Amino acid sequence: MKEINASQFESEVLKGGKVILDFYSTECPPCEALASKFENLAGLYGNDIKFIKIFRQQNRELADNLAVKSSPTLLFFDNGKEVAGRLRGGIKRSEIILNLDSMLLADRVKDIKSGIKPTVSEFDVIILGAGPGGLTAGLYLCQAKINTVLIDPSLPGGHVSTTHEVSNYPGFIEPQAGYMLSHNMSEQTKMCGTVYKVAVDITSVDLNKKEVVIDEYETVKAKRIIIGTGTTPNLTGAPGEKELKGKGISYCATCDGKYMDGKEVVVIGGGNSAVEESDYLTRFATKLTIIHQFDRLTANKKAQDKIFGNPKVSILFENEPRSFTREGDKIVTEIENVKTKVRQKLISDGVFIFIGMKPNIQLFKDKLELDQWGYIKTDDEMRTSVTGVYAVGDVISKKYRQITTAVADGTIAAMAIAKEID
Ligand SMILES: Cc1cc2nc3c(=O)[nH]c(=O)nc-3n(C[C@H](O)[C@H](O)[C@H](O)COP(=O)(O)OP(=O)(O)OC[C@H]3O[C@@H](n4cnc5c(N)ncnc54)[C@H](O)[C@@H]3O)c2cc1C
Repeated sequence: MKEINASQFESEVLKGGKVILDFYSTECPPCEALASKFENLAGLYGNDIKFIKIFRQQNRELADNLAVKSSPTLLFFDNGKEVAGRLRGGIKRSEIILNLDSMLLADRVKDIKSGIKPTVSEFDVIILGAGPGGLTAGLYLCQAKINTVLIDPSLPGGHVSTTHEVSNYPGFIEPQAGYMLSHNMSEQTKMCGTVYKVAVDITSVDLNKKEVVIDEYETVKAKRIIIGTGTTPNLTGAPGEKELKGKGISYCATCDGKYMDGKEVVVIGGGNSAVEESDYLTRFATKLTIIHQFDRLTANKKAQDKIFGNPKVSILFENEPRSFTREGDKIVTEIENVKTKVRQKLISDGVFIFIGMKPNIQLFKDKLELDQWGYIKTDDEMRTSVTGVYAVGDVISKKYRQITTAVADGTIAAMAIAKEID
C-alpha cells in the first residue's frame, strides 16, 4: 500500500498498471470504516493490483479534475484507463472485491480467494445496529468497561442520519440537523472505545451461540447480543414501485428532496413521517400532492396545522396508488379512490413514499418471540425470549417509536447487562 500526492498521479496511477486509488479525508467516519478493509484487501490482492491512497484535502485540484466530490471515493484504473464503477460513502468489502475481481482473470481470483483466512474475535457484547438504540447501549456498556462491538451493514446513525431536522431531542434549544445529531451520538460512543464494524455484510447470526459472521470470513463471538436493527420503510406493492425505486421513487426526503428544486412532487401517506417530510419537501418543490388512504391525516396536530397552512400542498384523501410508470422525465402515479373506484393519473417529477415501517428481523425472525406485527417481544429490561439476547429501539414491540424511546431502551439493556456480567 502506498500514499501518493497529485504530482505522482501520472507515474503511479496512469502508468501504474492495475490500480485501486482511495481519495480519503481526515475526520471522515466512512473513511475510517474503509481503512481496515482497504488494508486487509491490499494484503490479499496487493501482488496483482496496486493499492494507493491520496489525501483529498491536500490534493483538491486533482480531485476536482477527476470529479471526485466526496471522501472516501475509490477509483479503479487499468493501464491508465478508469475501469469498474466508482465506490463512495459507506463502502462494503464485498463491493470492493467485486470491482477488483472484474480486473483479474477468473483463475487468479480463485487463487486469491483461497488465501482468505477465517478470523475469530471475542467480545462481551455484540450490538447489532448502530442507530440511537444501539449507540446508546454501546456508550453505557463502554463506560461500564464492558468490551463491546457494534455491527451495522450501513454507516452508524440509523434513521436519524437521514432525518432533516430533529426538534424533540432534549438538550438542544434549536432543532438539530439529523445527520449532526447521529454523528455526535456515534462519535461519543466510538471515542469511549466501543469497537465499530460498520458497512459490512452480515452473513449469519446465531443467537444461541452468540455468534455473528460478517463479510463471510470474520466470526465475532460474545456473551450477550443486543438487537437494535430498527425498521425499513414499507412498500406500497403497486406495480412499478420496485423498478422505479431510486429512479424517481424515494423513501427519504433528506436524501432526495434537494433534487426536487422547482419541481412537482407526489407523497404517499398521511402519518407523522409523510406530513413532516412533505413540509420539508416544499422547501424545494413548487407543488406537492399528498395521497392518503383515509379521510383524515393521522399525523400529530402540530404537523397537520403546518401542512394545512402550506399553500404548495394539496391532499387527495381516500385514494391509494395503483401503479407507477415513467414517461420521459416524469413519474405517472395512477391512483384509485377507495370508495368510488374512480382512477386518475398524477404526473410529477418525483414520488416519495412514507407509509410506515417493518422491523428488520430477517436474520433471526424464527428464533425469537414476536408480536402480531413481527416486532420483537421484550421484558422491561429488554430481554427477549432467547437467553442472553436483548432487543432495543424501533425493532421491539412497543407503542411509541422515537429517538428518545430508542435511547431509553439502549440504556436499560446496557445497565441490565452490566449488572449481569458483573
Ligand atoms: C423520516 C423519519 C423522521 C423521523 N423523525 C423523528 C424525529 O423528529 N424525532 C424522533 O424522536 N424520532 C424520529 N423518527 C424516529 C426515529 O428515527 C427512530 O425512532 C429511531 O431512529 C430508532 O432508533 P433505532 O436505533 O431503534 O433504529 P434505527 O435508527 O432504525 O437504526 C437501526 C440500525 O440498524 C441497522 N441494521 C439493520 N439491519 C441490521 C442487521 N441485520 N444487523 C445489524 N444492523 C442492522 C441499520 O442499518 C441502522 O443503522 C423519525 C423516523 C423517520 C423514518
